[in-house]
This record gives sequence, structure tokens and C-alpha cells, in this order.
Amino acid sequence: MTQVFHTVTAMRDAVERAAQDSPKQQPVVSIVPTMGALHSGHAGLLRAARNSADIVLASVFVNPLQFDDPQDYQHYPRQLDHDLQLLAQHGVDCVFAPGLEEMYPGYPEGPLIRVNTGKLGQRWEGASRPGHFDGVATVVTKLFTILHPPAPAVCEAWFGQKDAEQLAVIRRLVADLNLPVRIRVLPIVRDKNGLALSSRNVRLSDEDYDAALSLSRALFTLAARAESGKTLDVEGLRDHLRASGGVDLDYLVVVDPNNLQEIAHGVIHEPALALIAARVGPVRLIDTMDLRPALSPPQ
Ligand code: AMP
Repeated sequence: MTQVFHTVTAMRDAVERAAQDSPKQQPVVSIVPTMGALHSGHAGLLRAARNSADIVLASVFVNPLQFDDPQDYQHYPRQLDHDLQLLAQHGVDCVFAPGLEEMYPGYPEGPLIRVNTGKLGQRWEGASRPGHFDGVATVVTKLFTILHPPAPAVCEAWFGQKDAEQLAVIRRLVADLNLPVRIRVLPIVRDKNGLALSSRNVRLSDEDYDAALSLSRALFTLAARAESGKTLDVEGLRDHLRASGGVDLDYLVVVDPNNLQEIAHGVIHEPALALIAARVGPVRLIDTMDLRPALSPPQ
């Protein structure tokens, strides 16, 4: 049965009990952090976590620290009852769903101490949304601390490849701060037309939805060009997106997956990552794709 906790103390007690009651000597505890408004992308994370762990913990918390736009925070979809049903269906053992005051006493002054993600947190999404990755890193550090099971249990946490920059920041956070959590990754989940699933998609009109498909199309084009050894011509794709209606392109870049620095737009010879962000209707959407170089030069 899925249990739901709203306070840090109750959640910590539950994690400790679950680890102690496990028949396994060294149970694997998986954490799946979310902001709720769950969709099939989150369901994929929950399934993967359930398949690989003895105990699955999920969190539902819309983290104000990672929103630079108050309107976006205010309008972010919140549907805890629906989320709890989905979490129960996926066999989650415990859900942490704290209120704002429980997570950040004294907000907005608190928390006084926050994680600084440095240069890594200032690229692309971080440049367009100042403070976003510091907010992500702060909440993830807190969640890891609250949900971490006592030894000898092993702790892992699942994240989606969709938020590729976030993933790079979290990997670095875990390495730099020696957080005892193993990071696991789920490939991006798309709808039947290729649009990356996102909680924000519910705010797209039919027209917005059609326009939004041009984001993933651009990424699929880049992946096909990379694999066939052709020049990527990112600039041409940017021009095309800027000329097409309904999409206000922020960035489309090809980066080194390790440091997120932009790489040349010719033919790639090493795996790379394409990142895109655009405003479509009332929301900002992001998407990403792995680019693999051609195995042998084209004839
Ligand atoms: P969010 O609730 O948007 O903060 O997302 C919670 C987790 O779900 C993050 O690790 C996201 O990367 C992941 N996620 C969201 N959408 C998708 C998707 N379409 N495919 C894979 N993972 C996703």
C-alpha cells in the first residue's frame, strides 16, 4: 500500500522503518523526485524504479526556487489526488508531498543556504532562467537528505533524459558534494507524434501543439544528419524555426554532453547532445536528443 507523508519527520521515520522491515540485508531504495502533474514520462521512471529497487520513494513538490517566472510557478499544474492514484498504481511505497512551509520554513527569505551550481548552471536553460539550476540543486540535495535510507541500504535516484542539462548538473552535484546516491537515467518519453511529454503540455491549445511539434522535428533532423555523416547546419534549422509561426525559439544548440559547451556545427565525430528551448503559446518547452556520429564516412 502506498503511504503519503507531508512532514520531514514522518517521512524520515517511514524510510527508516521501510529499510529495517525489508527482508533484504541490503535493500535498494529508489527515489523518484517529481513536481507532480504526472504523465507517462513520470510513469516510465516509476516503472524503472520499481523494477530495479526493493523500496520506491517518490516526491511531489512544486519547487518555487527553480522558477524564475512567478506566472509559470503560479500556473504550474497541481493535481495531487490524481498523482497519488498513479503513484499507487505503480507500486510506490512512500510518497513525500510536503507543503511549501514544511520544505522551506520562512520562504521566501528561507532557505538561507542554497546550492550554487556555478558555471555549469549558467549555460543554455540556466542562462535563460537565472537561478533555475541552483533551485534544482538545492531541492534535490534536500530531497536526497530527507529520503536517504540508513546504511546498509543502497540509495539510487531516477531522472529523465528529457531534462538533459538538469541531469548534467545533478551528476556533478552528486560528484562534487559526495552525495551517497547512485543516479539512474530514463530515456525521453514522447507522444505518438514525437512531442516530449511534459507537465506543461496540458496548457497547449491545438494550434500550440502543432507548432510545438517543430521542436522535436528539428531534433530528429539533426540526429538523422549526424548519423548519416552530413553537416548539421544548425543555423539553417534555427532560421527555419524562427520563420515558422507559433514558436518563439530561445536556443537550438549542439553541445558536448560532458560540459554542455557548444560544439562546431559541421559533421560530428563524437557523440553530442542537441538542446532546444522555445516558448510555445503560454509555456516554455525544452527537448533534447542524443546525436550519434556516422559509423563510417559517407560514400
Ligand atoms: P518534473 O516533474 O517535470 O520535475 O520531472 C520529474 C522527472 O521526470 C525528471 O527527472 C524529468 O526529467 C522526468 N521527466 C519528465 N518528463 C519526461 C519525459 N518526457 N521523458 C522522460 N523523463 C521525463
